[in-house]
Amino acid sequence: MAHNVTLKQSPLELLINNTEIDHIARAILDNSPAVPRVFAEIHVTDHCNSACRFCNQRTARRRESEMAPSMFEHVIKDLSYIGLRGVRLSGGGEPTAHPQFIELLRILRQNRIQLVNIDTNGLLLGNKMRKAVLNCKPRTVHISLLAPDGKRWSQETGIHRYKYRSLISNVEALVKEAESTATRVEVSFVIDEITYDTIPKMEDLANKLGVDFFIHDLNSYSYSRHFLDHCIPVVNAALNHIHEDTVRRRFYIKNLTRLELARKRLAGINAQRPKELPTVCLAPWCATMIRPDGTIFPCCAIMDLKNPLSSIGMLPLREICTSQRFLKMQEEARQLFLFKQAESEPLQILNTRCIGRCGPKEGLYSHPALSQRLLQSEGSAP
Ligand code: SF4
Repeated sequence: MAHNVTLKQSPLELLINNTEIDHIARAILDNSPAVPRVFAEIHVTDHCNSACRFCNQRTARRRESEMAPSMFEHVIKDLSYIGLRGVRLSGGGEPTAHPQFIELLRILRQNRIQLVNIDTNGLLLGNKMRKAVLNCKPRTVHISLLAPDGKRWSQETGIHRYKYRSLISNVEALVKEAESTATRVEVSFVIDEITYDTIPKMEDLANKLGVDFFIHDLNSYSYSRHFLDHCIPVVNAALNHIHEDTVRRRFYIKNLTRLELARKRLAGINAQRPKELPTVCLAPWCATMIRPDGTIFPCCAIMDLKNPLSSIGMLPLREICTSQRFLKMQEEARQLFLFKQAESEPLQILNTRCIGRCGPKEGLYSHPALSQRLLQSEGSAP
């Protein structure tokens, strides 16, 4: 199946300007810790007002913790010392369900930190919340719509279907108001047994709303045998149709690799996950992910709750980010991405999930120009 996939920009592409690219490439090749940590993904709460049946954050949710505004401000100010420019408010739980979310947005504005992206289920995006979000001039608001109608949405979320109408009203109002802040609004849908035959409806709804959209597979929930046997051919046929015919809207597919592998397994084709490495992912150098309880991880894809890199405590973040464990992570990333030694030298921090979780050539925090620069310099690396 040929995919004409248009990928959205990574947050780093939005935050690193051209003149900084060489500086960062040199620092990474020299294994120097002096790279600005320009981006942070902050999970402000583990609480969620939905109960999506496939949610990959259910383990995290058992802890149900919330980041106090004082800790949020501490994190923002402390990260600013080491180069923070933008944040993504995302996962764990539903960010807008944090009881002081509007106060957190105020702290961002006050510290002149760009809200790069917010991921939300959209249920709480009423008037007041929308205005507070748009006041931060976010680059992107991503709304996880899951399904293109109330009945299926209700099956996915466990929420009564009548709420779907107010969710769609929230999206419509957001799209209208977002024009004044040049914010891109995008929606996503999930592909599973409930939604697999509604891809044309997803496209229609996105067009009606006037938003970009993407379709993703289940994050951690396994597909049933029935899905593999009966649904994948329908999904593939619909995707082929969309790829050929849809030119009006930016459309992209996230994590389709797993569907492709499942389809191949079904056809009896030896289907291993591709060995190809992603483009250089800059998460170990340029990004930080912080959970509501203050624990720190390299990125959301390799968040191992039992094994955080560190935790916000007595040490300033600038010291944490140059600690032995961070330096070890960076060295592993250098080996993995630049010298491709992941298999000969077992990794302790990034481990092999770093290759598997992000689709091939799709490191969440890659920056194509910088990746190219680093890979070209590979031969000159010490
Ligand atoms: S490649 Fe993916 S899993 Fe690995 S550090 Fe980057 S974002 Fe995380």
